[in-house]
Amino acid sequence: MMASWWLDEEIEVLRSDLPRGRFRGVLFDFDGTLSLIREGWPQVMIPMMVEKLRATGTAESDEQLHAAVEDFVMRLNGRQTIYQMIQLAEEIRKRGGTPKDPLEYKHEYHDRLMQRIRSRIEALESGKAAPHEWTVPESHALLESLRRRGLTLYLASGTDLKFVRQEAKLLGLSDYFEPHIYGALDDYQNFSKRMIVERILRENNLSGEELLGFGDGFVEIEEVRRAGGVAVAVASDEVARQGINQWKRRRLVDAGADIVIPEYRRHPRLLSWLFAEN
Ligand SMILES: [Mg+2]
Repeated sequence: MMASWWLDEEIEVLRSDLPRGRFRGVLFDFDGTLSLIREGWPQVMIPMMVEKLRATGTAESDEQLHAAVEDFVMRLNGRQTIYQMIQLAEEIRKRGGTPKDPLEYKHEYHDRLMQRIRSRIEALESGKAAPHEWTVPESHALLESLRRRGLTLYLASGTDLKFVRQEAKLLGLSDYFEPHIYGALDDYQNFSKRMIVERILRENNLSGEELLGFGDGFVEIEEVRRAGGVAVAVASDEVARQGINQWKRRRLVDAGADIVIPEYRRHPRLLSWLFAEN
């Protein structure tokens, strides 16, 4: 593992030959990268899956099941939710059970998640909560800075497009991205972060080094790197909203992150360095 260095006390750089100053497009993931509305989703998804696997009569302990589920759920984080459910069905089959259609699991998961997050959405809708209360700290300021530099911003999420649109609007984020908002579709084979990255490069005549990406999931970090872009991992602690979540950081470094940050409080320093302004 190569040594990393610190641009300042919160910005860790992991690639020495990082191409700076040429970015024209910036790709953002949504949940955990900008939006905190769905904070805590793994605590809904993982126990639900452990329950389903437990029902197969497997001899594994709850701890073993939890570890196995957490591993594939987080590895697939960033892809559409349906892929996590397809894997669940596969895991049920491996243990001798007969799974339901993965889409049914996806709906059940969504119903359970809504119970956790409905009050957040309602508070935003009614104005009782302000957008900054449910976004990664300084998201709006970061997006504003990027827009001011003339970059085109793209939003791509593994969450269903209709929810991404609605939640981005509630958080006052839509204007930065429209019309470039992408999310999961029912015909899930027609959407992937790889397809989005390829499409952004092709339609805008961008080369890989002109793409900058921000994400907290394995998949987007991997895809931005694969395309030759620079990937900034946001290893935010979604509960404390300050500092690095070490577990996230490790996974994102494994995915190929070039830079790791906790949230966007240091965005002026990060951007002036990335855009080679000093
Ligand atoms: Mg995410």
